[in-house]
Formats: sequence, structure tokens, C-alpha cells
Amino acid sequence: MEVIRLKHTGFCFGVRRAIERVTKEVDKGQGKVYTLGPIIHNPQTVNMLKEQGVIPVDDLSQVENDGIVVFRTHGIRKEEEAYICEKGLKSIDATCPFVKRVRKHAVYLRKHGYKVVIAGDKNHPEVKSVLSYLDNDGIVLRESCSIEGRKIGVVSQTTLNWETFRDIAAGLLGGAEEVRVYNTICRSTRERQKEVVETAGLVDVMLIAGGKNSSNTARLYEIAKQVQPRTYHIETEGDLDPEWFSGIRKVGLTGGASTPDFIIDSLDRRLKNL
Ligand code: SF4
Repeated sequence: MEVIRLKHTGFCFGVRRAIERVTKEVDKGQGKVYTLGPIIHNPQTVNMLKEQGVIPVDDLSQVENDGIVVFRTHGIRKEEEAYICEKGLKSIDATCPFVKRVRKHAVYLRKHGYKVVIAGDKNHPEVKSVLSYLDNDGIVLRESCSIEGRKIGVVSQTTLNWETFRDIAAGLLGGAEEVRVYNTICRSTRERQKEVVETAGLVDVMLIAGGKNSSNTARLYEIAKQVQPRTYHIETEGDLDPEWFSGIRKVGLTGGASTPDFIIDSLDRRLKNL
């Protein structure tokens, strides 16, 4: 069986940068290092960081006064930033610059009188973060829907599927005099989605590796599944079922932006030995 490992796998720029920042703080040994929520959506990496001493917390009240809070790739909420300032907590900002770009455009649109629409998942921390910087004065859409308004501004969650974003933006055209659209899907997401679509049509089985809580991995899975029905979302090699590969010639292998190389490597080895 031939294993086609996609070019765009492994950590994206934003995830690599965040991991480097958090490990650098641990290495300095100047206090307990916390992340607000998991720094990335990959349980295996989060567990590795825990073993190095990184403490993920759900609430800032769990952070000791002399601790250091690292902001995760998805960003934090405005009220959390205010709390950190008020308490004088030390912090390191590992928010991905592409996430900050979404926030910047959204804030600009609101300031200039646009009703802001965020195309994305309302429960995702990135969307919650952006919305908070709009003082929750924004609308989150996961699918196309008509909205009445004179001026509507649209941004996207960085990891949204391109077709979904296009449909949401197009669907707003009927209800407004002016629609201003910023395509804020990040480059890493665009490259991975494009490569997955191209490869899924050439293989017999497609494997998408990544955390079950990873939004960009879930989008890759959805996109690949539309092209190749025999697509599976797995976290580790323990999720592989040898039955999936019975009689097949080619398998495509990739991972989400938060899937470490060591997981892809172990899957690659296992597949070659099936
Ligand atoms: S997927 Fe894109 S937005 Fe998210 S961390 Fe990676 S580069 Fe940044």
C-alpha cells in the first residue's frame, strides 16, 4: 500500500510560535506557567506540555499571583485581558497574528458603522474572543442566512472552510445596501484545504489526523469526505482500523494545523507495516 503524505502537515506557523513561547517560559524557570484553556487543540501536545510543567486553566482565578499566563493561539476575551491588567498578572501573548487580523478587521468594521458578521462557530474560542472585542455586538453565522442592514461587514474564523465562507458572504448580499468582506481564512488553512481536496480524489482512503476538538482538523475532514467517502478522522494510530485498508492501493495522510509531526510519523510507519 502506498502512503501519500501531504506536504502541508505538521504544526502551522501560529501553533509552532505558541509552543515555542510557552516552552521558553518554562525553561526560564521564573514561575508557574499557565495557559488559559489548552494552548492548542491537540490533547497529545497539551499532555506533553503538562509533563513539562505547563498548567492549563479554565478560569484566571486559578492562576497564582506570581504565575505567568500565556495566551493561546485562539486569543483571549476582552474581559480576560482586563482581568489580567487589573490583577497585574504577568502574561505572554501567543495569540496567532492571523487571529489578531480577524479581530482588527472586525473592530474596524464596527467602528465604521458596519453590522459585523463573523462566519464561524459561535462556540469556538477564537470566535468568542473576536466577539468580545466587539462588546458582543456582532452576529455569528455558521451557514448562509439573509440579514437586513444598511452596511454589513463580514470576517471569517481563520479555519473556516472556504465554500462555507463564500456562501455566507454571498447570502448577505440580498439584505444590505453595502457588504464589505474580509477573507480572514488563514494561509495555512487555505493551503491545507486545497491540498486535501486535490489528494482525496486520487487515493482510496484518506486519513485526517488531529484532535477531536480541533476545528481546522474537523474542517479538513468534512472537505475530504465530500470528495472521498472513505475518509477518517483519527487522533493517533490507536484509532486505525485495519479493515479500512483491505484491498486498497493508496492512502492519503495529513493532519490539522495543531497535529504534531510525531503523530504523523507514527501513523506513516504503522500504515506502511499493515
Ligand atoms: S491555523 Fe492559521 S490562524 Fe490558526 S494558529 Fe495556525 S496559522 Fe494561526
